[in-house]
Amino acid sequence: MAVATRTFQNLIGGQWVDGSSGETFDTVSPATGELLGTFPKSTRDDVDRAVAAAREAFRSWSLMPAPRRGEILFRAAEILVERKEDLAQEMTREMGKVLAEARGDVQEAIDMVYFMAGEGRRLVGETVPAEMPDKFAMSVRMPVGVIACITPWNFPIAIPSWKIAPALIAGNTVVFKPASDTPLLALRLAEILQEAGLPDGVLNMVFGGGSDVGDAVATHPDVDVVSFTGSSWTGREITKRTADQLKKVTLELGGKNVIVVLNDANLDLAIDGIVWSAFGTTGQRCTAASRVVVEEGVYDEVVERLAERARGLTLGNGLEDSVEVGPVINDAALQKIHSYREVGEADGARLVAGGNIATGAGLEGGHFYEPTVWADVDPNARIAQEEIFGPVTAVIKARDFDHAIEIANGVDFGLSSAIFTENVNRAFVAMRDLYTGICYINAGTIGAEIQLPFGGTRDTGNGHRDAGVACLDNFTEWKSVYVDYSGTLQRAQIDHD
Ligand code: NAD
Repeated sequence: MAVATRTFQNLIGGQWVDGSSGETFDTVSPATGELLGTFPKSTRDDVDRAVAAAREAFRSWSLMPAPRRGEILFRAAEILVERKEDLAQEMTREMGKVLAEARGDVQEAIDMVYFMAGEGRRLVGETVPAEMPDKFAMSVRMPVGVIACITPWNFPIAIPSWKIAPALIAGNTVVFKPASDTPLLALRLAEILQEAGLPDGVLNMVFGGGSDVGDAVATHPDVDVVSFTGSSWTGREITKRTADQLKKVTLELGGKNVIVVLNDANLDLAIDGIVWSAFGTTGQRCTAASRVVVEEGVYDEVVERLAERARGLTLGNGLEDSVEVGPVINDAALQKIHSYREVGEADGARLVAGGNIATGAGLEGGHFYEPTVWADVDPNARIAQEEIFGPVTAVIKARDFDHAIEIANGVDFGLSSAIFTENVNRAFVAMRDLYTGICYINAGTIGAEIQLPFGGTRDTGNGHRDAGVACLDNFTEWKSVYVDYSGTLQRAQIDHD
């Protein structure tokens, strides 16, 4: 499908409008360098207008019955289904992930938008017995107001949908600031929501860089909640910059995810799981398996088989069927990933596959990195501790099961973990003891479904969760309501004998 190169605009108050500075930036294919579109470099004035439009639309949107809001989301999900293939093709061009994965990204958005459309008829609170006679007690969710959704480039439609759909169903309005590497797919999602019938001003979108436009959105005094997914560095920065406002900030940040392989594992399955989790999406998933902890008895075999599989993966443009690993997002990412080659060597690790910027026929115009496997990695080495966010994984030897769990938990992050074992008792111990927000038994570290909470412990976030019904807590405040129909003044605990 040909993508016409054109200049796109911000969405403010239901109108597509130019940025006030007149300056622009381009979005290009990371596989070929092809220009895909030009977007406004927005300013603080643009952000002010977007927030004002969202504020103005808030009351009527929040008063629309939630099932009616759900119908609009349902229509949006239907349009996403119709356009799935076009969106996936465009995503592969803009973000680089291989087509099958791009389809999965769109499907995740479809799932999320349908799920939240259904929540329009639920948004469940509690009704509990009151402790006094003739008194009624319940809790209801209230919308919060204007939500800033700030998103990364690695899931260009899925992650925005995780934020925007629940924010809207709960009755909030949104200012959306997508990543500047994937503005086109973000725009497509906004177009679809508009087409589905969102009233003007309910969803606004401003394009531009993080430190200026992102910061202006996050710190805006009339933004009530910041829903952020991105790096831990930026998450900390937003937290500091909004601290004086006591703003509700929900953070989904980085990971250093682990796959544990025990001596009794089904090794064919484990190797498949590691290859998929470490090199799928070119390792650019927050849940990518960047550590593999292997029990002594199968260590040599796992290292050897993993290295062989990594060396055999086909790199290239994700639009081609034969390609298994696409490009990394941009040159800065490529250089950062490659800088870990020296770090790994200084750490004393053994490079058993990859380790180079990939060149060759078909790779000339893009940013490609060889799938890389380090063996004999010390659990405290930098390559075992820091998020590299590329097709690089570190294999660590464990003496036994307890040691493997200790190593698995020995990082600052806590997003996803996995264990391969045929021993049900150990599987349950691992489920209990792995301190991560997501845990897989006999599967890799990736593949979360939207109906369960998504997020992590420790530096992966600040205790909130996207997805699942749990995500509604990010976008609502609880109100406990007591209705006393006794006609007398009842004083709760004070009237207790
Ligand atoms: P990033 O932090 O550089 O950028 C994320 C978004 O924040 C972008 O829209 C960016 O423009 C904006 N931004 C940057 N600086 C800002 C600032 N000072 N104030 C406000 N906004 C700002 O992250 P990235 O490189 O786009 O994404 C990769 C990171 O995202 C990785 O660390 C990855 O693990 C993480 N991630 C986490 C999850 C999760 O759910 N936990 C999911 C996907 C990606």
